[in-house]
Amino acid sequence: MICLSFEAGIIREKLLSFYASVSVQFKLDIVFTLCNLYTYIFMLDLKTFSPCQYSTKMVRRDFNYKVSIKDLIESYNVPHTEIDLIIVNDNSVDFRYYVQNGDIIHVYPVCPIQGLAVATPLLHLVPPISDNPLFVVDVNLGRLARYLRLLGFDCLFCNRFDDATIANISSTTQRIVLTRDRKLLQRKIIRHGYFVRSNIPKTQVKEVLSRYKLHSKFKPLTRCTHCNGVLKKTEKQKIIHRLKHLTKKYHHKFLICPDCTQVYWQGSHSKHFKQLIDEFSEITGG
Ligand SMILES: [Zn+2]
Repeated sequence: MICLSFEAGIIREKLLSFYASVSVQFKLDIVFTLCNLYTYIFMLDLKTFSPCQYSTKMVRRDFNYKVSIKDLIESYNVPHTEIDLIIVNDNSVDFRYYVQNGDIIHVYPVCPIQGLAVATPLLHLVPPISDNPLFVVDVNLGRLARYLRLLGFDCLFCNRFDDATIANISSTTQRIVLTRDRKLLQRKIIRHGYFVRSNIPKTQVKEVLSRYKLHSKFKPLTRCTHCNGVLKKTEKQKIIHRLKHLTKKYHHKFLICPDCTQVYWQGSHSKHFKQLIDEFSEITGG
């Protein structure tokens, strides 16, 4: 899986030929080839990206200044959080690498890659996440946050969070940023982040569950969908004054959020919750 150095005049044709010859699972989302002050770039369209589907286009740009590989990649709107491997001249490098004229650079997304032969040990750039990942969700993804809370995942969300706040929360608490804002993910202090492709909330849930392999980690009805608080059992007598007549008559087991005092029970709304949980389980094969 190595691009050879070609003479500048034929490099475009060679790269296109190379790209056409490799099987889908080996294709890269970005290939930079720097030669004679020109950069040839195969660029992934993040809107259509999935680990198994690649679309590429090639552009050419002048290259005559010092630039880090992180900045070069992100100049094409690919956030560093989407990149797991960078191979420069057969060596695995990190984002601090400064691009040299003539480098052959392959940039791999976060997905399983087989058969990659390099001279140095692979330097994976996406840090490992904990078994119980925490999230901080951007302001325009409120329904995604509520769905993930419904499944039991810890999701901070506040419609007053600005980008700096979200970045700081992520950096200091190791929370994964979920956003549709590429510029937010380009902030250096964010190490854990995911660019949400879809604008459909249920599809967004599917993306996050797949990306972080969460389908076996559902803990439904353990977290408040309104505020992210951890639900606790409560005695019926303590909240009976807040219940409507039929709820009072037919239901006996209740949960309460200690933070916002929202009360939950096995009633009609939990039936709706169960339908959603079943739907997400089907989507992810869990
Ligand atoms: Zn709450």
